[in-house]
Amino acid sequence: MLIDSHAHLEMPEFKKDLEAVIQRAKETGVEYIFTVGTEKKDWKRALEIAESHPSIYAVLGVHPHNAKEIDEETYPMLREFCRSEKVRAYGEIGLDFFRNLSPRDLQLKRFREQIAFAKELGLPVVIHDREAHRETLEILKSEGAKDCGGIIHCFSGDYEMARACMDMGFYISIPGSITFKNAEDLRETVRTIPMESLLVETDSPFLTPDPFRGKRNEPSYVRYTAQKVAEIKKISFEKVAEMTTKNARRVYRLN
Ligand SMILES: [Zn+2]
Ligand SMILES: [Zn+2]
Repeated sequence: MLIDSHAHLEMPEFKKDLEAVIQRAKETGVEYIFTVGTEKKDWKRALEIAESHPSIYAVLGVHPHNAKEIDEETYPMLREFCRSEKVRAYGEIGLDFFRNLSPRDLQLKRFREQIAFAKELGLPVVIHDREAHRETLEILKSEGAKDCGGIIHCFSGDYEMARACMDMGFYISIPGSITFKNAEDLRETVRTIPMESLLVETDSPFLTPDPFRGKRNEPSYVRYTAQKVAEIKKISFEKVAEMTTKNARRVYRLN
């Protein structure tokens, strides 16, 4: 059994065949999927999908791309949605200095603010960090994110970064890009991260692993990422499945 720790099933890419996608995930041994609603227009849909499928849970928050859209309705709405027992974490929140779709100073402010909000809600946080490793780490430390813990999703940092995050009680989630030819640095880092801290994810519909690169990603493909982790760590696929499932269950507090 595997857990896809991070997907976006509420996105339009899944509108036509969502049930088939969920069915394929089940058939390939994906026990649970965590779908992440990243902006106001997606929260309700993400939660509806989770509430109508026993194998799906939701994570809700404001993505750094959408930091500029936070207004007076945002937090009251999220507070209401997060009452559902189907919401298991707050996110994805963080910094994206690659695309800079929201101004950097606003991303920083909203990141800090949302860590505090997640702590108030009593939820772990799911972190998005793209080309902002130093600032992400600084804020996780200064905002006391170790009190809520969580996941660094689509991890792209080095071992030092991973170590600092693990020391704060964070898990490191590995996406399908680990299968790419040019991902030798990431593979080298994963080799050094203990299995006790690793999760696997698809981030579907994005970051499709080989051999499907270029097509839409979906949760059933999380096994290619797990397979690659097994290869890198020279352990069995079953062991990777067992450990990453155990870790995901712990951080998302399943049972
Ligand atoms: Zn992300
Ligand atoms: Zn995502």
